Amino acid sequence: MSNTEQTLSIIKPDAVERNLDNEIKQVFIKNGFNIFKEKKIQIEKSEAEKFYKVHETKPFYSDLCSYLSSGPIVVMILEKENAVVDNRKLMGATNPKDAEEGTIRKKYGISIDKNSVHGSDSVENAKIEIDFFFKD
Ligand code: UDP
Ligand code: MG
Repeated sequence: MSNTEQTLSIIKPDAVERNLDNEIKQVFIKNGFNIFKEKKIQIEKSEAEKFYKVHETKPFYSDLCSYLSSGPIVVMILEKENAVVDNRKLMGATNPKDAEEGTIRKKYGISIDKNSVHGSDSVENAKIEIDFFFKD
């Protein structure tokens, strides 16, 4: 029996804009993730506000939602054992300055807001976020 788990990953506008989406997808594949589904889309600010609702009281909320809706993003369902935790490890710390060597945010992130990738932070939120983008 396999314990395959799914998580939601987003390649954010700063990375897509620099044509890093294929390179970042390869990083996931090399680290054992299967890209189960993917789509390149651009979302409205109102959709970003729903996606990041958990952050609505934070001072950076409006800028964050403007940013996520500012250009194309690549939204993916990633699969592997322990996908949620392993993706968070591979992404690195929220602030690229604090991210460890070998992480995506260390290598590609520009700043705390332009940090190249999003990843679900729990199995429960992964389900909610996957539904948000892939339920039709
Ligand atoms: N963010 C920001 N300023 C901050 C903290 C976070 O712009 O001071 C942005 C950043 O892009 C981050 C996103 O808000 O990825 C969501 O924040 P969270 O704390 O959930 O970080 P993550 O789960 O993405 O590491
Ligand atoms: Mg988060």
